[in-house]
Amino acid sequence: MTRMKSGNESSGSNELVVDIPKLLRNPGVLTDITSEWKPEFIQTTHSDANLMQVNISLEAVSDKITAVGTATLHWTAQCRRCLDSTSGHTPISINEIYEKGASEGETFELPFGEKLDLKPMLAEQAMLNLPLAALCSESCTGPTDTEFFAESDPSIPEGNTEELIDPRWAVLDQLKLSDD
Ligand SMILES: [Zn+2]
Repeated sequence: MTRMKSGNESSGSNELVVDIPKLLRNPGVLTDITSEWKPEFIQTTHSDANLMQVNISLEAVSDKITAVGTATLHWTAQCRRCLDSTSGHTPISINEIYEKGASEGETFELPFGEKLDLKPMLAEQAMLNLPLAALCSESCTGPTDTEFFAESDPSIPEGNTEELIDPRWAVLDQLKLSDD
């Protein structure tokens, strides 16, 4: 039924699309895949996936194919406190099984064709690992305009400066206090 192709390594096709018959013909043999993929269409409201570095091994185990390894997801996001743009990367552990008649949410469907495209599985991993509420740093305290409020609390110099304060300013001071 299926046409077995061989010696097709130099086709230049994406490393993330693998040949299923070849894997199934070599049970127990690990096929290492190292690739970089730009899942640019994957995003949440406040974060975008930029690049996924993939390092996984595929292995045929009876009539299933396992995918085990790691991926690093590079993302950009908006800091939830200061709203500045920030970026980071998240390590992802990959441990998936492809099989016919896959269980929803547990294993992935092994397609009937010759080609297994790993990208939908990786896209799912990327989506699950994008930060929903990123911080530019653990110590981010929020918008920098809080410094403005700090200045409205002047230290009072020694001396009789109080007599020099215009009463109208005193009213403004009262207003500022009530804002707090
Ligand atoms: Zn921030």
